[in-house]
Amino acid sequence: MPVAAGQGGPAGPAGPPEPVPELLARLVRDVPDYPQPGVMFKDITPLLADGAAFGAAVSALAAGHAGIDKVAGIEARGFILAAPVACQLGVGFVPVRKLGKLPGPTHAQTYELEYGNATVEVHVDAFEPGDRVLLIDDVLATGGTAAATAELIRRSGAEVTALAVLIELGFLGGRAHLPGLEVRALLAL
Ligand code: AMP
Repeated sequence: MPVAAGQGGPAGPAGPPEPVPELLARLVRDVPDYPQPGVMFKDITPLLADGAAFGAAVSALAAGHAGIDKVAGIEARGFILAAPVACQLGVGFVPVRKLGKLPGPTHAQTYELEYGNATVEVHVDAFEPGDRVLLIDDVLATGGTAAATAELIRRSGAEVTALAVLIELGFLGGRAHLPGLEVRALLAL
């Protein structure tokens, strides 16, 4: 059963629904030094494997975003979350992919990583002019990926209404790269 943000997740056997931030804290696993030393990777697979908790997280991501036209997800884990959010909101899903993965003509946006750079792409016909787009990913870290994706969507003639993520790693300062964009995180660390 869908659950709105703040209402919490599935009911326990003898208690009230577990709040979504607590669900995430319990079911998102910390993996130290992955994919490289010094990085604490937030592994969402235990959350995805729990159907009721996954549903609660999807509902919490979707809550408060009525009136949008599309949901865009960032490859790859963003797809897993954005597609059910789009279904729940009754709008279309647009995949934002890494370079070279989309078959048709694309807009591309390159951004800097700690070492080197990366490029995200979207089909040129993915959005109608003026589309209101909710952007979704699993984790907001430095904000580089989300900033590049938001720019890509704007260049496509659409408007990014908000970024919604499961977890924001606030100590990495990602919001500073997203001026003017509403950022909603279900759990801020
Ligand atoms: P960033 O561009 O630094 O905000 O990184 C965001 C992207 O990298 C998202 O697509 C995340 O899935 C992924 N990411 C960055 N840091 C982590 C982390 N500690 N755990 C899991 N995913 C991460």
